[in-house]
Amino acid sequence: MDGLMQPRPLTIAHILDRAERLFAHKEVVTAGERRTYAEVMGTVRRLATALASLGVPAGARVGTFASNTRRHLELYLGVPATKRVLHSINIRLSAEHLEYIVDHAEDDVVFVDRGLLPRIWPSADRLPKVRHWVVLPDGTDTGIPADPRILDYDTLISAAEPFAGSFEAAFTLAEENLAAGLCYTSGTTGPPKGVLYSHRSTVLHCLGTLAAGLIGLRESDVVLPIVPMFHANAWGLPYGAMMAGAALVLPGASADPAHLLRLMAAERVTVAGAVPTVWTSLAPELGGHDLSATRFLLGGGSAVPPALSETYRAAIGVPITHSWGMTEVSPVGVIGGTRSQHRDATEAEQVAVRGAQGQPLPLVNVRIVDVETGAELPCDGRAVGELQVAGPWVAGGYFRVDAAGSFTGDGWLRTGDLATLDAQGYLRLVDRIKDLIKSGGEWISSVELEAAIAAHPDVVEVAVIARPDPRWMERPVAYVALREGSATTADDLLAHLTPLVAKWWLPDEFVFLAALPKTGTGKLSKLDLRERIA
Ligand code: ADP
Repeated sequence: MDGLMQPRPLTIAHILDRAERLFAHKEVVTAGERRTYAEVMGTVRRLATALASLGVPAGARVGTFASNTRRHLELYLGVPATKRVLHSINIRLSAEHLEYIVDHAEDDVVFVDRGLLPRIWPSADRLPKVRHWVVLPDGTDTGIPADPRILDYDTLISAAEPFAGSFEAAFTLAEENLAAGLCYTSGTTGPPKGVLYSHRSTVLHCLGTLAAGLIGLRESDVVLPIVPMFHANAWGLPYGAMMAGAALVLPGASADPAHLLRLMAAERVTVAGAVPTVWTSLAPELGGHDLSATRFLLGGGSAVPPALSETYRAAIGVPITHSWGMTEVSPVGVIGGTRSQHRDATEAEQVAVRGAQGQPLPLVNVRIVDVETGAELPCDGRAVGELQVAGPWVAGGYFRVDAAGSFTGDGWLRTGDLATLDAQGYLRLVDRIKDLIKSGGEWISSVELEAAIAAHPDVVEVAVIARPDPRWMERPVAYVALREGSATTADDLLAHLTPLVAKWWLPDEFVFLAALPKTGTGKLSKLDLRERIA
């Protein structure tokens, strides 16, 4: 027997209608410019008819090549709410990957920040499926080429009539599974793969992150997504903030630490999210800014070294809350932090708990399995296995590629990560399978070794990778960037590490660099370091 509740669809369109109805006065701030949700929605209503006038059909992919701005937010809203698919493109890709992705997605139109046009326009002739390139007047103006394919966003918007009526009312129940967003994984192994989010998965992920005790966004929050809007939908923060009615601060193109900290202080930001390399870059300047409004900092995408989180806790009273996720998981799957049972735990125990990636969000299931046999392993905090995930906002396939190997027979996503789970459900990530260092038949966790090295006060960035070794098969090499002016030597780091890790974990070599290479999403790039070794 079925229940008798209303069969209403879960759609992003609801977020728009709700923001307009309940939170019209709330603000979106980009680069000194303030707009209310009502004004943003006014533009979104014009964008809806502008897309139709450009002949962009339902289901078509609409590319965005943009930083975190108010106009990018308008596309986040207007594209899926009119049943088109928002494809946010990583602005730091190589021309080869960029062209592959835009062509594979068959983007019908691409919206580009003026300041980013020089990065993508040289590829335009190799992307014949893109009918229009719409320039968003954000970023430096380096001259717009005179080409009939190029249109101006503001001109397009002002020429369009506003769509009248409810966005949500246009959706049927069956349409909650329509594709709403497309993000490609960065393709460090093989070509990038597209993850195709649905309305339903996006809304459920949004509610998951809104849940109290997790990220728990609320109306009184001022949310700063530093994580780029092309990195797995900025971890759901823009949609989550709008659903909650929180104010949004979008930092624009600059990742300058002083700019970000000034924004956090001036706008009284309460919640911000960024990858650990960004939190590392902000850390030295924390003292110079009033961050008393900040209540929650989110860090994920790679492991947050406990020492980094503790630096924040000491400076502003707020640690970095750990989160594990991946593009395929929308991306948030697991959130860190202590529970009531840890209230009386020692300081050191609490630091250790906060260092764990955390517990799965409601509706997300995780398990670890033996890499060779696939047998499920016990949740005893010791057994290490491949992490597998299932849930309504976890990918069940990839866009137009056969990637059956990424899923188990019973439909769980194989993450390629190695982890332990304990009896309370806390996940601790050991390493990516491909980053693990196999030394003499045993393995060394690069993540753990990096956390131990990062605990040295002079270490700013560290990445440990495997170097082929004739005797041991592989041995760890640590790439380290030190604080400016530091005289720390390899021997000092060895002395620091010796009490912290097993003797055979000690790196064979420390290589000092001014800064470590980063990936397109700002994580430390082990691929680049491996190429150096090769
Ligand atoms: P990419 O593979 O290009 O980095 P994603 O951003 O989707 O793309 O990365 C997902 C991966 O990032 C995870 O599989 C995991 O290896 C790593 N990761 C994400 N969050 C964490 C975390 N909190 N701690 C350690 N690793 C993490």
